[in-house]
Amino acid sequence: MRIYADNAATTKMSRRAIDAMIPYMEEAYGNPSSLYELGQQAKEAIETARADIARLIHANPQEITFTSGGSEADNQALLSAAARGKREGKMHIVSSAFEHHAILHTLKKLEQEGFRVTLADVHEDGLIRPEEVEEAITEDTCLVTIMYANNEIGTIQPVGEIGKICREKGVLFHTDAVQAMGHLPVDVEKDNIDMLSASAHKFHGPKGCGFLYVKKGIPLRNLIEGGAQERGKRAGTENVPAIVSMAEALKETVEGQAENTARQREQRDRLIEGLSSIEHSALNGDASKRLPGNVNFCFEGIEGESLLLLLDDKGISASSGSACTSGSLDPSHVLLAIGRVHDVAHGSLRLTLGEDITAEETDYLIASVREVVTYLRSFSPIWRDLTEGKKPFIL
Ligand SMILES: *Cc1c(COP(=O)(O)O)cnc(C)c1O
Repeated sequence: MRIYADNAATTKMSRRAIDAMIPYMEEAYGNPSSLYELGQQAKEAIETARADIARLIHANPQEITFTSGGSEADNQALLSAAARGKREGKMHIVSSAFEHHAILHTLKKLEQEGFRVTLADVHEDGLIRPEEVEEAITEDTCLVTIMYANNEIGTIQPVGEIGKICREKGVLFHTDAVQAMGHLPVDVEKDNIDMLSASAHKFHGPKGCGFLYVKKGIPLRNLIEGGAQERGKRAGTENVPAIVSMAEALKETVEGQAENTARQREQRDRLIEGLSSIEHSALNGDASKRLPGNVNFCFEGIEGESLLLLLDDKGISASSGSACTSGSLDPSHVLLAIGRVHDVAHGSLRLTLGEDITAEETDYLIASVREVVTYLRSFSPIWRDLTEGKKPFIL
């Protein structure tokens, strides 16, 4: 059996999303800035895509700017809000410790430029408390940026409550909605969201394409100088096939959302139940306020990377927050933020299910993880120390 269980890293493009691209490579391949028919067809296609995307998140078409993906949208949102803050003498930003690196690294850069950043606490359940965000806001705060749903542990943040607080206090609210888009209903109007980032490849669209929603009246700072594309806010010839495909992918995921997420939730909960029966294991993040396809566990006494390699041998693609896979000495900043100690965080496993997951596949995932964890523990020196009482169990 082959199971792709790493949908938080990227998703397979849907047939509809692929088919939507082809005419804009084969036939209507003109430059949208050109005045002749071939160019105008392309121009019309991106404007239709913009209107479709806007409608799906309850925004206006002028409020959508196309980008090269989630990272660019995050950078542009933060740098725009910071530039406005600086002009107004407001140099304080509120965020959280478990944001994506596209946010955290941009915040680091802003700190070097003199901004002050307060990171709201992420509690053990993987959730941020709106009242703590409120307490962190000062007279100098120009921006609150809190992710919609976390990419590692899948926890869904109270964005509506945070949006309400920010609106009342007159502070801009940005949310990185890359993991939520397509998988949860997103409504920027209802939730008082001023800026939002999304990425096509996380909802079955193409890689290298995303969008930034910015509420009317909020000035955008452009990161790329050049032509007048995207109202002068993002220079460069538009990636027409990808933009058209992204809109199609979003329409498709939103259309199937209720049915697909119900199926995913059922399998997610079965998987959580199955993995919980492995001794000295624990689910990371709240069990119900989480993305429909996200399961993230820590298993004591093992190393996440070995777990991934052995699961790969069984045809399972998964991910881990262990140090080796994150490319640094420290394990995942998300797991550390929710209070997991290093040893425990090293033995983490993230399985992110697709919309088409079946009960049979879930059973295979449970059996495979159980087998691999047992095998790795059988020769793990840490596990031996734990079972011999030389070290106390944490989980
Ligand atoms: C994937 C991801 C990003 C980055 O998006 P790209 O399109 O790959 O640049 C940003 N934030 C979150 C939460 C993500 O999951």
